[in-house]
Amino acid sequence: MMQSGSFKASKYNIIFENENRHYIYNTFRDSLLEVDQETIAFVYDCSKDWCRNSECSEAVIDVLFQNGIIVDESKDELAELKVRNRLGRFYVNSLSLTITPTLMCNFNCDYCFEGSAKTSMTQRIMDAVYDFTLVHLKDKNSLGITWYGGEPLLAMNKISYLSTKFIRICETMGIKYSADIISNGYLMSRRNAKILTEQLAVDNWQVTIDGIREIHDARRTLRNGKGTFDRILKNILENVDLFQRVFLRVNIDSRNWEKVPDFLDVLDEKGLTDKISVSVTKVEPFTEICHEIEKFCLRKEDFAGIFLKLSKSAAEKGFDITINPKLYGNYCTADCMDSFVIDANGDISKCWNSVGRRQERIGSVLQKEKNDTYIRWLSYDPFEREKCKGCKFMPICMGGCPYSVLYDNSQETCQQIRYMLPEMLSLKMKYGFFEEVISDEGRRRKKSAECDE
Ligand code: SF4
Ligand code: SF4
Repeated sequence: MMQSGSFKASKYNIIFENENRHYIYNTFRDSLLEVDQETIAFVYDCSKDWCRNSECSEAVIDVLFQNGIIVDESKDELAELKVRNRLGRFYVNSLSLTITPTLMCNFNCDYCFEGSAKTSMTQRIMDAVYDFTLVHLKDKNSLGITWYGGEPLLAMNKISYLSTKFIRICETMGIKYSADIISNGYLMSRRNAKILTEQLAVDNWQVTIDGIREIHDARRTLRNGKGTFDRILKNILENVDLFQRVFLRVNIDSRNWEKVPDFLDVLDEKGLTDKISVSVTKVEPFTEICHEIEKFCLRKEDFAGIFLKLSKSAAEKGFDITINPKLYGNYCTADCMDSFVIDANGDISKCWNSVGRRQERIGSVLQKEKNDTYIRWLSYDPFEREKCKGCKFMPICMGGCPYSVLYDNSQETCQQIRYMLPEMLSLKMKYGFFEEVISDEGRRRKKSAECDE
């Protein structure tokens, strides 16, 4: 139980209204509390003597305190948040590798940033990847691999070679092993899916379809211009049972977003509603290669509303959707010391956007030392940016995509959650993604109903 008379309101409270009820969401704790107007006033009148003088009951104060809405007067939340960030970045017990066994791709997507490289891993590079992994596994208790490309299924033999060695060494060292794959799905035959899931410990598959057939086939064709929609959908239907999770991503821009609900209907008709997770992602013009499609890209503020609309539509149809907010320690592979992206040349980078871009590499599996670019990534600090330091969204944003800050100043880094937090929280409540909305207000109503009985 807390001491009275020594509290202040958390810096990270966000008040919002939904269906005539009032809520306080605390971004620092990811806690949501239904409150009455009186409690909101209490929180914001909160001063040193507040608890002593207020009429707020001890039980209410306790709920506010337990949920981080009020905190000890002496608490430095920003300092604690920095520690959370440092721990997430520099004290991780797992090694995460994103490996692109080939940079080749069988598709010719109009927004792809990777170009048409022809490189695949040689035996020498694969052995060096394994050696690199061994060195970096020291003191770790898990190894997580993401197979990425190009199209990784063009290099099944390389995935198989490396996976077998990784699984074996993890067994020997008593280390947990897990793997997933990001594949366009065209080559995800029953045979490949069985090898991946039954022999190579690949549990999760992320696949991209950009909408109904005519839209997808206009954007994501084979190199010979042939459409890919039917084959990918067939492969999902045939193999969804083998993976623990199939995550379907829809890349949206101004050309296709309106048709996403129609696409969800197609998935529903095929019986996939309760078998896959879906999410929409904004097409980004990160590199010269895809700056050509910049005119179709959605502005972040516009994307927020569209994302919300499409997420609602998916949730109403019964799909499993990803609903943020979530708390961040580190942001992604790029700002975490023990996460690396290794491309088919053996070049190591920190960010998925840097795949195949030699000027952004931090080293090579063929060399022992990492270069200064590694230091540049590791010394990146979102807390040095004034706008982030004072931002209420920091615990659920952590400064956004570091690549945007370090390499592409034109990109705005605020996560879309900034533009739609109350709406996302409402969606989370409606579809039961919060296990419980801790409710001071609800508790009061219940109590008064009990008294009336
Ligand atoms: S830095 Fe940005 S683009 Fe790179 S992996 Fe992280 S979130 Fe993705
Ligand atoms: S990037 Fe934007 S939303 Fe995120 S912490 Fe910084 S200012 Fe806040």
